[in-house]
Amino acid sequence: MDTFSYVLSEYASLSKTDPFGTWLLFENTDLSNAAVQKLRQEGPILPDHITTVKGLAKSILHTLSPAARIIDPEEQHLLFARIGADVWGKKRIADTQTENLVNLFITLKTNKLILPAGEEKFNSIREIFRRYEQFCTENDCCDSILAIERAAGIAGEMDISTVLCYKLYKPTPLAGDLLSSLPGKITTLPPESGELASLPPVCSEVSQYCDAVTELSSALDAIASLIESGVSPKEIALLTPSLPMALPLLDELVPDFSFLLDGTRHTLRFTAGEDIPIENLPPVRSALAWLAAAAFDCRIDDLKIIIESPCFSRKKDRLTAGRLEKAGIITKTEKGRAAWRILAARLAPSRRNEIEKEYDAGFQNDLDQLITRLDKNLVRNAPLADHCAALKTDLADLGWTVLPMKPQDEAARHAFLRLLGKLGQSSLADRRYSIREFYAILCRFCEKTTRISYPESENAFFAGDLRSVAGTKIPYVFITGLSSDLLPRIEASIPLLNAQETARIQPDRIQNLFDASRYYFHSAVCTAEKQLFLSCAASDGSKNLTPSPYLTRLADPIQKSREFLSHSLTGNQTRAGELLAAGRGGECAALFGIPSLKTAAEIIGIETVDRTGEPGIYDANFSADELAETFDAVYTEKTEFAPTVLERYRECPFKWYLTDHLHLENPADFSAERIIVGTVMHKAMERFFREFKRPLTEENRESAVSFLKEIVKAEFDERNIKTPSWLAMQNGYLGEGDLESSIEKIIGLEIGFYNEGYRTLDEWLERTVTAKIINEQFTVSGRVDRVMINERTREFMVVDYKTGKVKTHKELVEGKALQIPLYTEAVSQETGSPAKPGTYLYLSDDDAADKNPYFIGKKQADAEEIRDLAFETCREIREQMKNGQCAPSSADECPDEYCPYKRVCRFAAFREEKA
Ligand code: SF4
Repeated sequence: MDTFSYVLSEYASLSKTDPFGTWLLFENTDLSNAAVQKLRQEGPILPDHITTVKGLAKSILHTLSPAARIIDPEEQHLLFARIGADVWGKKRIADTQTENLVNLFITLKTNKLILPAGEEKFNSIREIFRRYEQFCTENDCCDSILAIERAAGIAGEMDISTVLCYKLYKPTPLAGDLLSSLPGKITTLPPESGELASLPPVCSEVSQYCDAVTELSSALDAIASLIESGVSPKEIALLTPSLPMALPLLDELVPDFSFLLDGTRHTLRFTAGEDIPIENLPPVRSALAWLAAAAFDCRIDDLKIIIESPCFSRKKDRLTAGRLEKAGIITKTEKGRAAWRILAARLAPSRRNEIEKEYDAGFQNDLDQLITRLDKNLVRNAPLADHCAALKTDLADLGWTVLPMKPQDEAARHAFLRLLGKLGQSSLADRRYSIREFYAILCRFCEKTTRISYPESENAFFAGDLRSVAGTKIPYVFITGLSSDLLPRIEASIPLLNAQETARIQPDRIQNLFDASRYYFHSAVCTAEKQLFLSCAASDGSKNLTPSPYLTRLADPIQKSREFLSHSLTGNQTRAGELLAAGRGGECAALFGIPSLKTAAEIIGIETVDRTGEPGIYDANFSADELAETFDAVYTEKTEFAPTVLERYRECPFKWYLTDHLHLENPADFSAERIIVGTVMHKAMERFFREFKRPLTEENRESAVSFLKEIVKAEFDERNIKTPSWLAMQNGYLGEGDLESSIEKIIGLEIGFYNEGYRTLDEWLERTVTAKIINEQFTVSGRVDRVMINERTREFMVVDYKTGKVKTHKELVEGKALQIPLYTEAVSQETGSPAKPGTYLYLSDDDAADKNPYFIGKKQADAEEIRDLAFETCREIREQMKNGQCAPSSADECPDEYCPYKRVCRFAAFREEKA
């Protein structure tokens, strides 16, 4: 019998004769929960007697000091925030400061440490801790750590006959006080000592995979195989040094795997030793958006969540998120009650008929009702209890509290209501908060402290960190993530203390952390009874990783390449793609997840491999397929096209097919910052021309430069991105040292335009323009970045901003650059003014230039010829769309090195796996 089973049977036999006097202590709740589950199968038990040191302390207080209230982490946080602000003489202190204070307090208490003596800077912190403890004493309450301290003082009065302590690894000094003050007989089963000299014989594999996704996917595939072979999911554990880091990936990957039992396919499931924060679960997201909309003057993103939320029983006919988004773009509205209330009036100039205007009126009416409803109960400033009550009333009125939900959402809803209840009754209930502070408080607690358990399921394997199973036995164990950045993971200093201060009060901290990391790794290895699989990854997607030294001391990992994952839906789809592409469609029978060729074509996930053979549906060439009819119908009916969409088709029909026809979301947006910086600079340039009202002359050069710099800085800051690459881009625009910044170059160019007589009027910024394609029944319509009018010659010039690649003269004369000629024609048709060849203003972080594609040296392309070519190209493209021609234009060359669809593309160079 293993020691875990032994201690359970010992407890079971002692508790038969003395259930109230017998206690069983574990070092964490994962183990105590596992023990409760096992013992329940044997007969009735007192679950609160099978617990941790914290749980025991609470029980002692509950029995001997029933009036004492244990305060929750939420109330503790608010108390520290309030006391910290009072002591430091501030209105409020930052959340991280409060968090650090709480963590420091807990660390000092549990380890019985005191702040470094004689240090002036710690006086105020000492005062904060003193006031907090004084509050707890005066109000007869304590948090879970002070509860251990108090319980240690009175534990002798408890009626305890036996305490079984199961492998408690180095209890903290505070826990030690409580354990030593317990009456009765204490039986301690010590943790295994000593180091592993070699891996146990059950270890089947020690592998290194190319990245963390492949590593975890391979483990999941092996787990599914085990279950198919008859192993119960309950006999399998997947462990990792840092569960919070692995959980998001597990949540994403596990549903892709399934196993076949008795002819039925079941989705793989897991349950975790870590609870799920409720912040991002749909009912909570909706409730927080409701509050945020009221608090932050109706930001468009909050309104969109409210409108689309399935958790509110609102009527949703005329007010849709899509419509609001479009209206927001046309009227440039991102927030503001006042702006939303006149939306229909501001849309009127862009409406062409009465039907559209009538629809807008209905839409406006619904939007007005929503805004009025938002402000019915919620108020700007109120006691915490009133905020909680108002939000609860709103949620009840909106049907949020009663609408049927999936079990996990239901649990999140209850947890959120419980949180509101707790805050409404806490000792801070009467304290006044602004609605924004209330929103920040709820967001923090929904992210950090309010959690729900993973759903229990018979078919779920266990996922936990290395500590969660220490000292137990599990038949099949997978330990993943064994890289040196996670094992050992050492936090050298205590919060708010530097390394020297930490070393002064806790000299053995680092050594203890090393010892603990090694101990838990070795005990996790020893958990495996039948098979053990160890693995690590060579990259986490952004940086290279090396195997943990604790692993390499025992074995050198073997490099494993990516293999066919037979239990993964996407793995099967990829394999189907390979087989179909190689003309071996008959071999698809054993695969799953590919219901038909048509569906397979729609699931672009299969389009990841090389193919040979005749062109056809798997080249995204639908002209001879039944789908051709759909293409014909859709693109005959469609009579308005955006130049950007046409240009995308001209660049790569397959990219157009994915983006504009199938509307697939970007599968991997690895160039996000590059895209965001484009938006930032477009917005900055628009703001500059709207707000800087002085002539762009040499005299004003300096003020124009600082004006634009301020705008660019504000726009960069607003994105709240802290990556080094983002900051480097920002520095490039704003300038560092003596080098000329991009902004200075931009202003230099603008002064040049101004001197030539060009002016930019507000109405020609970010304006929607439409060109009718001559002799055709369709138009092209889009938003031009800017149109400059020459006040001397009355000529206009279209300007398109580019922060990335600029189309060349060659591309223009080959009909691949459509935006500038089409926008120029649109402005020409609208104003009747003469046109100058439009230009690209290249605005990158290290350069700014006027890159006019009409010119090659001094030679200018014929603008009329270019326009006619653009028209002809539009006609051709529409015909090709109607025919369902969506294949990449070239098999040898990809036109966009940053294309986000690389991973799902038919373009041969990107297909990594062969059948
Ligand atoms: S990766 Fe290249 S060829 Fe493939 S869709 Fe994107 S642009 Fe087209």
